[in-house]
Amino acid sequence: MTATSPIIPTFKTPVTAQIESLRPHYSADEKEALKNEIKKLLKEQDAVLVAHYYVDQDLQELAEETGGYISDSLDMAKFGNQHPAKTLIVAGVRFMGETAKILTPEKRVLMPTLDAECSLDLSCPIEEFSPFCDAHPDHTVVVYANTSADVKARADYVVTSGIALDLVSWLGKQGKKVLWAPDKHLGNYIQKVSGVEMLRWQGACIVHDEFKTRSLGELIEKHPEAGVLVHPESPDEIIALADVVGSTTQIINAAKDLPNQEFIVATDKAIFYKMKQAAPNKKFIAAPTHGEGATCTSCAHCPWMAMNGLHNLLEVLKTGKNEIFVDEKVRLKAFQSTQRMLDFANNLGKP
Ligand code: SF4
Repeated sequence: MTATSPIIPTFKTPVTAQIESLRPHYSADEKEALKNEIKKLLKEQDAVLVAHYYVDQDLQELAEETGGYISDSLDMAKFGNQHPAKTLIVAGVRFMGETAKILTPEKRVLMPTLDAECSLDLSCPIEEFSPFCDAHPDHTVVVYANTSADVKARADYVVTSGIALDLVSWLGKQGKKVLWAPDKHLGNYIQKVSGVEMLRWQGACIVHDEFKTRSLGELIEKHPEAGVLVHPESPDEIIALADVVGSTTQIINAAKDLPNQEFIVATDKAIFYKMKQAAPNKKFIAAPTHGEGATCTSCAHCPWMAMNGLHNLLEVLKTGKNEIFVDEKVRLKAFQSTQRMLDFANNLGKP
């Protein structure tokens, strides 16, 4: 069952290539000087850099070189929570900064840019989501981590792609019906595999939505030995061609553990940095997107993630701007729904 009348607001989607062309370009020496300045400021300000797998390689390298961390959104927030630094610099999109603040309110959370949104978050504004939940009080509300603090606060559970299937299946076993938001593709996938009755919000990730089935089929024919790794935010037809469907972390682990020597990968191509580290002798090929080249919006790299760079990271460290705040009442509720997932994850596999 899909949601009967979710109103998906239209929003302006930035184009990755345009964002990248606007970013300052540095020579190797300039980049080194910039990185050194950032390293010095991180130390002086007792700050740690936590980066998402989808941000540029420069930022991922810097996180590694300075004792920071690279991971998916929830794992980033957990790392920030356990790290002793007083300031967390979150390189990613806005809901990731909010998630860090929800879990660790006592720390200062800064982001290189506050303009970095997420199409899933934008598709599910609280003003429209809350009445939809009110209209279905017999459903347990489960929302994906890619949502605002307000939407998390309205939910019973927050989930990541790595745990969504297990958690919804567990709810189904208790006879619960689920109201799922915001990603329609991930919702479809979970519903199909778990068989749980679900009302599904109709949002989508603009990056994963762009993968193109026909061209992917042709690429698989050209590389018959390649493993196909797909993120579950991708459309059904792309998922049907996958050998492994999994979260960013699960995809990286599959590249390392499977015997295949090459992989076709349907997720943001910035993840290749960590995939190559995990399996240095293997080959990774980006899955084709709609309008390959000139007309694609994301070309397999999130335009909002692409807004993060060394230049705005330095500026934020110098000025202290772009701090994340979450209203305390909202934070406490969002913390509860996130904590329920963490408790579930901690007990997973236990009788
Ligand atoms: S890649 Fe998709 S889900 Fe991730 S931040 Fe960008 S728009 Fe959102």
